[in-house]
Amino acid sequence: MSSNFLALAQPGVQKLSPYVPGKPVDELARELDINPASIIKLASNENPLGASPKALAAIHRELAELTRYPDGNGFDLKAKLSERCGVQANQVTLGNGSNDILELVARAYLAPGLNAVFSEHAFAIYPIVTQAVGATAHVAPAKDWGHDLPAMLAAIDSNTRVVFIANPNNPTGTWFGPSALADFLAKVPENVLVVLDEAYIEYAAGTDLPNGLDYLAQYPNLLVSRTFSKAYGLASLRVGYALSSPTVADVLNRVRQPFNVNSLALAAACAALDDVEYVAESRRLNEVGMQQLEQGLREIGLSWIPSKANFLAIDLGREGASVYQGLLGEGVIVRPIGGYGMPNHLRVSIGLPSENLRFLDALAKVLARG
Ligand SMILES: *Cc1c(COP(=O)(O)O)cnc(C)c1O
Repeated sequence: MSSNFLALAQPGVQKLSPYVPGKPVDELARELDINPASIIKLASNENPLGASPKALAAIHRELAELTRYPDGNGFDLKAKLSERCGVQANQVTLGNGSNDILELVARAYLAPGLNAVFSEHAFAIYPIVTQAVGATAHVAPAKDWGHDLPAMLAAIDSNTRVVFIANPNNPTGTWFGPSALADFLAKVPENVLVVLDEAYIEYAAGTDLPNGLDYLAQYPNLLVSRTFSKAYGLASLRVGYALSSPTVADVLNRVRQPFNVNSLALAAACAALDDVEYVAESRRLNEVGMQQLEQGLREIGLSWIPSKANFLAIDLGREGASVYQGLLGEGVIVRPIGGYGMPNHLRVSIGLPSENLRFLDALAKVLARG
């Protein structure tokens, strides 16, 4: 008899369900046997503008060196990020997407017998990285779909090593303000690493959203993670980063793969950081699109969870799976979020005005079928 290599996997891994990504355009095109160009994807919170032309130009310049290993220390990108963020270069850790950062944290600080605290309806990667290393999840109940920071504090015990919080959160779009964060950080035990995931910060900075960087100097147990996948429009290249104390950065650096960020990603990220007009335009487009979607949903008679990110979780008032399927039939890909404990909601990313309109029309059509 051959060995059972599922049963031989470490216990946390055996019980793991793989992350379910947004449906790729080409996959739906094959299934429906239609032209991919006729499909719109509003399922993965990608930037509808496409990558910045400056990032594309940087990639082209970098192609000549493709035979070489990338700079494993990411010197240029770290230098730019440290200047932009007002920290030392030794406080920056680069990741193959910010998901890589989250995984490095779990591998460095979690293990069987230890636990991570995160919220109900939080980003799906937190439970995956926690379970993958055999640690336990302490899931704090949400409040009005968002993070209830006092409940998260209450979920911390002597075996807690990490708290994952997303502000704004995905898939809810919910957020908390500066005083809630300050209060939370003041009360978290100093041996618990707080991972503040700011994947959408560029869409909301300057409003009543705190900037995690403001708290780094005071709290050596704080790590702020950010990404080039959303407002910077480089999701496919996989590049994100963490800002933390030099000690935490040093620890993460010990477990990361030596060349976790490739040379095209490094070059594109440097160029994208410099293209401030592109990010400003992305944000403006998002604000306009958010208003367009909210107005359209109001007309259809649906409600949604208020969001400061580049997506909305729409309340269908009933199970969303059939509406999701109906939208696919119309060539519109959104995200069902039943796996996040939100079976009555669909998450839609804000697209170009024409895409938002197409989504609203398709949604009204599918709902009219009953
Ligand atoms: C999209 C997203 C990320 C970014 O993932 P990458 O690996 O950087 O592409 C991180 N956290 C949250 C909450 C997200 O929604």
